[in-house]
Amino acid sequence: MNHQLFEDLIFTQDALTQEQALALQEHLQSCETCSALASAWRQVTPMFAAPVMLEPSPGFVSRWQQTLEMDRERSQRRQSLVMFALGIGLASIFLVLLAIGVLYTFNSPLEWFLTLTSRLATLFFLADAFRDSFVILRTALPVSWWISGGLAVVALCILWIFSLQKLATAGRTSS
Ligand SMILES: [Zn+2]
Repeated sequence: MNHQLFEDLIFTQDALTQEQALALQEHLQSCETCSALASAWRQVTPMFAAPVMLEPSPGFVSRWQQTLEMDRERSQRRQSLVMFALGIGLASIFLVLLAIGVLYTFNSPLEWFLTLTSRLATLFFLADAFRDSFVILRTALPVSWWISGGLAVVALCILWIFSLQKLATAGRTSS
């Protein structure tokens, strides 16, 4: 058997013809030496031919986008948690103020209790409605709208304070 011919075929850089490939395959099945040589060569060649620039593994871009998406979701969840905590805090402050006010207004504990219950129900209903509308607005409106809305509120507050001051000074000068 002509091993040299097949070794040449194993080591060649050129593409094999169909007959050459078939003959080599047949020989490798019967010859242990050449088959060992061929498999060793197959393991070694990628090291020589290793590309300088490593290409990203397939699906890299989509995985990256997925990570980005997950990060965004996480920060959004954190944001809504903060809003939730803020709402709870405001509600408790309001409740305490309400309780103090109610305690000073009512004499009978039953009257106090009934009023408190109805007010609490109203408060929870309002809070719920507020939260719902807030969630809808937050998902529906872009951030720029929120910023301009906030600026408008600030401008209105300044205008209000300014006009109050004007009224106060006008009242003082007329009297
Ligand atoms: Zn051989």
